[in-house]
Amino acid sequence: LTHVSVEQLKKSIRDIPDFPKKGIIFKDITTLLKNASHFAAAVDYLYRHYESVKIDKIAAIEARGFIIGAALAYRMNCGIIPLRKPGKLPAEKIHETYDLEYGTDSLEMHADAVKTGEQVLLVDDLIATGGTALAGCRMIENLGGQIAGIAFLVELSFLHGRKLLEGYEIFSLIIYESE
Ligand code: AMP
Repeated sequence: LTHVSVEQLKKSIRDIPDFPKKGIIFKDITTLLKNASHFAAAVDYLYRHYESVKIDKIAAIEARGFIIGAALAYRMNCGIIPLRKPGKLPAEKIHETYDLEYGTDSLEMHADAVKTGEQVLLVDDLIATGGTALAGCRMIENLGGQIAGIAFLVELSFLHGRKLLEGYEIFSLIIYESE
């Protein structure tokens, strides 16, 4: 279906040094997303990995996870659940706090977003330490959902996020093995 290679996709991601703070090399995927064939190829590669897996819902992490997650949910013909930054969701919700390099952050999801036994695919743009994705998994599991897999467009494998997420099925399309 696609004629864009994963290597080409990797080349269309831009490195921004010292963003959002000194010492971090930010992987800017907007340069991939703005290219129609690259965006389609990225979503199709993820789709192909999960094509034969039973998925009831995609849970996507704010904000760049929404872009990938929504396109994939449409492609997979399943619903999408937003995992949001605190204070954004209107109805009854659950909350999970996780560690960052400096300090903590939180995510929220609606308490009725997942039903017991549902198979949920968690989607985000990028895995660094894995803390964000782990918080997402915990919330889904607290509601009785099962993690069918965790999908990322980009993995920074030198930060060993997979270790934190041990036991889960993880698929990342584009892998950086060093900074
Ligand atoms: P972590 O919880 O450490 O796995 O961080 C993952 C979250 O932070 C994702 O939602 C990413 O969008 C964002 N993130 C962390 N590091 C980077 C980076 N170097 N470039 C772009 N986004 C990043």
